[in-house]
Amino acid sequence: MLQSEFFLTIQKNPPKDEQSANARFLIRGGYVQKLMAGVYTLLPLGLKTVRNIENIVREEMNALGSQELLMPALQPKELWDETGRWESLKGSMYQFEDSSKKPVGLGFTHEENVLAIVREHVSSYKDLPLSVYQIQRKFRDEPRPKSGLLRGRDFFMKDMYSLHTNQEELDDFYTTTATEAYKKVFNRMNLEAIYTEAAGGVFTDKHTHEFQVLAENGEDTIYHCKKCDFSENKEIAKVKEGEKCPGCGETVMESRAIEVGNIFRFDDTMSQKMNVFYTDKSGKKQPMFLGSYGIGITRLLGTIVEVKHSAEASIRWPEEVAPFAVHLLALPGGESDAEKLYGNLVEKGVSVLYDDRANVSAGVKFADADFVGAPKRAIVGGKTESGKVELNGKKITQKSFLESC
Ligand code: ATP
Ligand code: MG
Repeated sequence: MLQSEFFLTIQKNPPKDEQSANARFLIRGGYVQKLMAGVYTLLPLGLKTVRNIENIVREEMNALGSQELLMPALQPKELWDETGRWESLKGSMYQFEDSSKKPVGLGFTHEENVLAIVREHVSSYKDLPLSVYQIQRKFRDEPRPKSGLLRGRDFFMKDMYSLHTNQEELDDFYTTTATEAYKKVFNRMNLEAIYTEAAGGVFTDKHTHEFQVLAENGEDTIYHCKKCDFSENKEIAKVKEGEKCPGCGETVMESRAIEVGNIFRFDDTMSQKMNVFYTDKSGKKQPMFLGSYGIGITRLLGTIVEVKHSAEASIRWPEEVAPFAVHLLALPGGESDAEKLYGNLVEKGVSVLYDDRANVSAGVKFADADFVGAPKRAIVGGKTESGKVELNGKKITQKSFLESC
């Protein structure tokens, strides 16, 4: 991509009406634009980054055997009445009447929709277990969204659902298959996500598990152990900071954190409500066991910024998330070398942004590159002699630069 043609909206100053580090950086850096509180456009740079996050999630969900589908955001009230959640989600779910006075809502989550599909198409134990997922736009009427991309009213979520013949099979999928896949997802984004026990909330009375990334601006407070895996959300915590870890005796710490993922076990409660049964080996009707697994896709974009950016105006994205793998900058005298290198990189299929802008100072090019945050910054020309590239501060030959990409 030629930077002279790329629709990049980097701004001189951070927005005045945003407090959170992620919104200030992402708006100023040309990733997103605010339309209203909690609602952001993903600009080309932001969309590229989000697509990379999605792809990591998609690959890991596919790898565990889940199948991607896409459910509608617009939902009929009757479906939600089957579980009673039309009433219980009042105030959080967008609910309104269409022009024919029919009550409809915008999907807050999709357990009802999934169960309606399964109820129609799955009837035998032979068809189970089954897992499906989607990466979809979610709408939630969040009161006072103020954390930028961390808490949107219109945002992207990955939601996976698994259906099983019994509790044991669901438990195994939940604690092993899904949890392991989640760890891989966050590792690939260079995020350390702490597996944390939490309350059920509006979904289930049973404890759920959250994946919490430590961050000063996090809305959640967790009590966790440095030494072992113990971690509990404050809402259910039985220990306080400084007390002994129930797991290993080490001292418990209190930290702020961002919930990037949350997994739930509904067991057979929702299936009972929605009449979702299968026939077992002996021909008996049994309720299906349901698990539900969320990841905040756009929240992850904001989380990585909160965690990774060291200054207000620069970032180094994790390799697999970065909007471009290579940012190639041409400084005076380096134009023709840069042109050639760009051609070579494109030929190799490397995702590269080439700052080919003439009459733009080196200072401006560097400042812009700090916002783009490509893992590899390659400078040609300027103080770098011909035939060489300055790659992340180190001078190397153009040949070895190309080999490293
Ligand atoms: P929270 O407790 O932060 O309000 P939640 O528990 O209601 O979130 P879930 O229903 O568990 O959210 O959704 C799955 C994931 O989607 C969350 O772990 C989070 O990463 C993301 N998510 C939830 N709400 C939002 C939001 N308003 N904006 C952006 N991402 C969100
Ligand atoms: Mg949650």
